[in-house]
Amino acid sequence: MKLRYSEAFYSVQGEGRFVGVPSVFLRTFGCNFRCMNFGVDTEKDRWQQHAEGQRYNAEVKGLIDAGVHKQDIPFEDLPIVHTGCDTYASIYPEFKHFNRQAGVEEVVDHLLSLTPQGRWTQTDGQDIHLIITGGEPLLAWQKLYVELFEHPRMQDLKNITFETNTTQLLKDDFFNYLNNQDRFEVTWSCSPKLKVSGETWESAVKPDVAEQYSLVDNSYQYFKFVVQSQEDFNEVERVVETYKQAGVSCPVYLMPLGGRSEEYNLNVKEVAEACMERGWRFSPRLHISLFGNAWGT
Ligand code: SF4
Repeated sequence: MKLRYSEAFYSVQGEGRFVGVPSVFLRTFGCNFRCMNFGVDTEKDRWQQHAEGQRYNAEVKGLIDAGVHKQDIPFEDLPIVHTGCDTYASIYPEFKHFNRQAGVEEVVDHLLSLTPQGRWTQTDGQDIHLIITGGEPLLAWQKLYVELFEHPRMQDLKNITFETNTTQLLKDDFFNYLNNQDRFEVTWSCSPKLKVSGETWESAVKPDVAEQYSLVDNSYQYFKFVVQSQEDFNEVERVVETYKQAGVSCPVYLMPLGGRSEEYNLNVKEVAEACMERGWRFSPRLHISLFGNAWGT
């Protein structure tokens, strides 16, 4: 089996529990969502996208209509978008061929080549984290992860984070594997999508999935919501309560919407105040402040 992934890069974790920790990111291809409405300003534009039955928002459709997906350019030269899913090239089939396909040996070589010392645990004992993101990283690759984590050169890896939309149950084999290992800690960075994304509550809020993740030994779970308005804060309250009713209670982070620092800075203070009022945690987007909205950050 080969892994299809759009990019692997070394950066600092910009969000959530491990902000600032040097980490290798592995961005897998494929997602069950489209999140077309992120950053789309008016209700009319949002409605129109859905009324037309599209799975592409206007910006991505514009790229496809312009034939960008047919250009012979490397992945990192693809345009950045400011609305919808910011990793569009990791989710849309039109951009699949910009993603690499590699067996476990090649993936391990690639990941380790990005670390400062070619290893996860450095000679001074400090460790580099692995963050598996997407797309939705738990959609298609669970079997391959076991092979990846068991590779001889992955034995000194101590921390793995899955950045997930929390809609995909763990397959029995993967669940059992994770439960029977004590070499590394798994962090479930769970981001159920709110209405502002364009996805529906029914498809996005899955307490049974979050509950299953919480049952994995040697793992830590938190919720991270991308928010923009008071309406979003209220929705987060309802979502968190729904998970709580199902027995899932874990730290809640709010993160301001905005792929560009101009937009991001607009509602940073409001989001921080909403967190303080409710006892939730604020997550910055450190990578946006450091590097702007770019691939490989
Ligand atoms: S869940 Fe994440 S990767 Fe999937 S479409 Fe939404 S923003 Fe993109």
